[in-house]
Amino acid sequence: MATIFTKIANGEIPSYKIAESETHIAFLDINPIAAGHTLVVPKKEIDYLFDLSDSLLSETMLFAKKVALGMDRSLNPIRTGIIVEGLEVPHAHIHLVPIYEEHQNVSLRNKVEITKEKMAELAATISKEVKL
Ligand code: 5GP
Repeated sequence: MATIFTKIANGEIPSYKIAESETHIAFLDINPIAAGHTLVVPKKEIDYLFDLSDSLLSETMLFAKKVALGMDRSLNPIRTGIIVEGLEVPHAHIHLVPIYEEHQNVSLRNKVEITKEKMAELAATISKEVKL
């Protein structure tokens, strides 16, 4: 069965999309831990990030870099952090998390409330600054 991220990539489930290429997609995490928390996903359905081929892993990191730089330009965090966990969705992905303050609790357990309107605004703002 297709993963939730494949359904998002296929447009079967809506998302706040940030960027897309033939092989990758980035969209806002629906339960963010910071404003602008983004997921980068290779479209190929592989559960564990480190099961990706060397070339796909490299491409995924390079795609994540372009998205992160767009987040830096649009959101002005101190920097954008990266988390890989993969315990919830069995489809490899990288969390990109804007770090706005030095003592921010950067943990996937630290969810924040963001309205749908703000999520749409964040996606539009970030996507304008992502240069693929
Ligand atoms: P992990 O698998 O790395 O532990 O976490 C999966 C992440 O995917 C979680 O942060 C969760 O909020 C996010 N997530 C789960 N389902 C959806 C969804 O349908 N849409 C979006 N945009 N994010 C999701």
